[in-house]
Amino acid sequence: MNNITVLGVPLDHNSSYKRGASSAPAKIREALYCDSSNLWTEDLRDLGASPGWQMGPDLDLLDEESALNLIEAEVEQLLQKDSHVIGLGGDHSITLPIIRAYTRLYPQLNVLHFDAHPDLYHELDGNQYSHACPFARIMEEKLVVRLVQVGIRTMTGHQKEQVDRFGVEVITMKDIGRVRGLSFDGPVYLSIDLDCLDPAFAPGVSHHEPGGLSTRAVLEIIQGLKGVVVGADIVEYNPDRDNNGVTGMVAAKLLKELLAKMLA
Ligand code: MN
Ligand code: MN
Repeated sequence: MNNITVLGVPLDHNSSYKRGASSAPAKIREALYCDSSNLWTEDLRDLGASPGWQMGPDLDLLDEESALNLIEAEVEQLLQKDSHVIGLGGDHSITLPIIRAYTRLYPQLNVLHFDAHPDLYHELDGNQYSHACPFARIMEEKLVVRLVQVGIRTMTGHQKEQVDRFGVEVITMKDIGRVRGLSFDGPVYLSIDLDCLDPAFAPGVSHHEPGGLSTRAVLEIIQGLKGVVVGADIVEYNPDRDNNGVTGMVAAKLLKELLAKMLA
């Protein structure tokens, strides 16, 4: 893959508990270009000197009513120009419009979803587009052929019914060893909710859920993944909750290694 756009998606009005994720894209960029580190990836690629990817703009999403449609249209336009997309959220509601656009080009799309939460609620607080609902919509609309969730540790009765109804594959934290040997036949989209990580590694999220993945474990899964990664998002970074910007550095690190995976 030699044309990737990193797209800022500063939206947090679909968050159920705390807002703040809309300031994440700018903070992740700041962390990426911070002089405390460099732009080399672990497979020895200098992103600072690599053509093949560009830092795109932040979308203007101030009109909440039209925001999801605007994200979908923008991603569709990039895909038509042969550019793949890494979306920087924003809350997790941004994944639905991105996948809606992707599925037109990739009707056989697989999704690997990292999260503490299944995000399969039919609705939350009367909002079907809540950040707790995107994967219910994605499965209802039959946008993907396979959804695998990793890191889950907040399953509820209702969401377990949704898992069974939609045939979602769930690798909970309790059974995280099953993640070894994961492989995909077709194109894969990675959706990374930073609360998949233990709050010890990533405190800058709205929903602290102990007992999660380490940063290294997520990197190992990405680096070892068997399948072609065609797009991704990093969501739910909430700079208001961060500790000395450490979670911003985690997001930037994941961005670098996602780029490495897609450019390889
Ligand atoms: Mn989550
Ligand atoms: Mn989520």
